[in-house]
Amino acid sequence: MTTPWGYADFDEHEDLHFFADPASGLRAIIAVHSTHLGPAAGGCRFWHYAEDEQGVVDALRLSRGMSYKNAMAGLALGGGKAVILADDQRTKTPEMLAAFGKSVDRLGGRYVTAEDVGVSVADMVEISRQTKFVAGLPPEGGEVGGDPGPHTSLGVFLGIKAAVRRALGKDSLKGLHLALQGAGSVATGVALHAAAEGARLSIADVDAVKAQKLADAAGGQVVGTDEILTLEADVLSPCALGAILTEQSIPELRVPVIAGGANNQLATAADGARLHELGILYAPDYVINAGGIINICTEYLDDGDAGVVRQRIEGIPDRLEAVWSESASTGRDPASVADAMAQRLIGRG
Ligand code: NAD
Repeated sequence: MTTPWGYADFDEHEDLHFFADPASGLRAIIAVHSTHLGPAAGGCRFWHYAEDEQGVVDALRLSRGMSYKNAMAGLALGGGKAVILADDQRTKTPEMLAAFGKSVDRLGGRYVTAEDVGVSVADMVEISRQTKFVAGLPPEGGEVGGDPGPHTSLGVFLGIKAAVRRALGKDSLKGLHLALQGAGSVATGVALHAAAEGARLSIADVDAVKAQKLADAAGGQVVGTDEILTLEADVLSPCALGAILTEQSIPELRVPVIAGGANNQLATAADGARLHELGILYAPDYVINAGGIINICTEYLDDGDAGVVRQRIEGIPDRLEAVWSESASTGRDPASVADAMAQRLIGRG
């Protein structure tokens, strides 16, 4: 049997909780990585894993990522993550969501939940009937809240502009070629912002219908999912799944800039160094994709309106610049520079 300490991704997590509710079928894991800066906040992932242990690894890895993301965004939140182990049909019921809400509540606010892959705003409403430690709820009367996706997209777009400024010396995306991996929530916003500024788009999604719909809406061409990572372009923006930058994929890249919203883009820390050696400017994922959690934090802590959210998201380019500047002056790759900065902020540096 593997104990938490036996997992390679165990990183001095403060606590790791396992919940079971046989009546509803709920089996959930909540990992609290750090509460140094505030309650551990991070979304709830509803996913079917071939092996339960993969769910534990996801919770450990993603909760550490949330500690880093929240710290680098300057938020008064620690890092945590929940994973609900779904069956292979991904059966989700109101009873299961209620049992999950009660589990969150039992932690008394050490963990704050929100949307992640497989969990919608409507699910959050269901969960909020059982606990107040939840965000990502529909905004009421002009308050901040709702789907974090568009806020993530705005931050990613501003981050792409910052990267283009630094790497290519250009103040606009006009005429630049953006290769977009994914055509979901985050990618859609990025595509629309970039198209409005005159960028040329190539879009790939495993769901070809979605890719075509986005290409029609934003203007651009659909390319194959294999082709997108080897396309000659000015920017590659990964906005689908993680672990796409690997020892195998990196030598095939033909872009000077990688800046996208997907979590955990680097398969391993060594891949950050590989990009750096090739002179490819990388925007660390948890720095550039913090727009959604900024909105969630502002909603949960109730300390600002839509204008404040926008202002906080507009801080993302400066944080990226700080990472790139330290990278330039030390010769270390941006991903490891960002990790070290985040560790210092959560008192572990
Ligand atoms: P989404 O489910 O709306 O979209 C993801 C898209 O990626 C889907 O259309 C899917 O078909 C596509 N896809 C999956 N595998 C692919 C592949 N191999 N090639 C091309 N396309 C592929 O999800 P989203 O909310 O847009 O999130 C996208 C990424 O951004 C995820 O990694 C997520 O963790 C991260 N992220 C999202 C937010 C947010 O606010 N939604 C915040 C931070 C990070």
